[in-house]
Amino acid sequence: MSSYAYFQKQFVPLSEAKIGIMTHAFHYGTAIFEGIRGNWNSKQQQLYLFCLREHYERMHRGCKDLKINLSHTVNELCQITIELIERCDFREDIYVRPVAYKSAESLGVRLHDLKDDFLVFAFPWGPYLDVDKAKCSTSSWRRPNEVPQAKITGLYVNSALAKTEAWENGFHEAIMLTPDGYVSEGTGENIFLVTGGKLVTPASYNNILMGITRNVVITLAQNELGMETIERPVDRCELYTADECFFTGTAANITPVGAIDHRNVGNGEIGEITGKLQQLYSDIIQGNNPKYFDWCTPVYKKA
Ligand code: PMP
Repeated sequence: MSSYAYFQKQFVPLSEAKIGIMTHAFHYGTAIFEGIRGNWNSKQQQLYLFCLREHYERMHRGCKDLKINLSHTVNELCQITIELIERCDFREDIYVRPVAYKSAESLGVRLHDLKDDFLVFAFPWGPYLDVDKAKCSTSSWRRPNEVPQAKITGLYVNSALAKTEAWENGFHEAIMLTPDGYVSEGTGENIFLVTGGKLVTPASYNNILMGITRNVVITLAQNELGMETIERPVDRCELYTADECFFTGTAANITPVGAIDHRNVGNGEIGEITGKLQQLYSDIIQGNNPKYFDWCTPVYKKA
């Protein structure tokens, strides 16, 4: 399977897309990245990119934070991505990784007087948390307060510390708290609870990334299950008493959480609401639900 990258304004084989060792973003984490899913529908012989525009809109906002001059419009970024995937001709689930970064080969901690660039590549990638139900622990590493709304590469070091701490202790994923002890999110996912018949998720001011999947799930819960989502601070102990818990994210889709800190969530099985949302979501991202087809971008011209 040949894979390509859009790199330095042209399409090149992935193996040829290399950056120099003095690249600013490599040293100081000065890059904005995104993760976009392409979902293969074998019946239709079509690959659907999910919420493509929304990801590039978030990237544009993040670039403002980091003073990165992203010279392509959202439309152009969408077109470049479609052309890239067409060239790769993938026929399975994929993950797309766009990066807007300080490309100057120049050292010194700053954001100004540095040139920027944009690249994107894609590769086949199956389930991110490859388990039916994730076994989680709350982390000793906190989700920081500053600029949490942007996917800044440098911000992910705390998440990496948390993930590996959890993994080495025998868990699949970490749940990070805010510095003042409220639940924030997973290391690459937002978190939802079902408690007392209500859907609850940490609020924007609980240091979360405002996930695109989070928005989708809030919309689906309202439209399809008639359930409102309450966005509010969530106490750590609420994790232990919730009836259901699940993660949402582009890579992780909807992943049920079976246990937290050695306590089963509910009876430890996949909850009813979680299961319904998983089924809905999985149909939608594969382009099988006409009502939500606007969220899907077909890549191949002739299915
Ligand atoms: N939180 C973090 C820290 C993430 O990296 C991600 C993945 N982008 C998410 C939440 C979920 O966001 P989304 O649904 O937009 O992928």
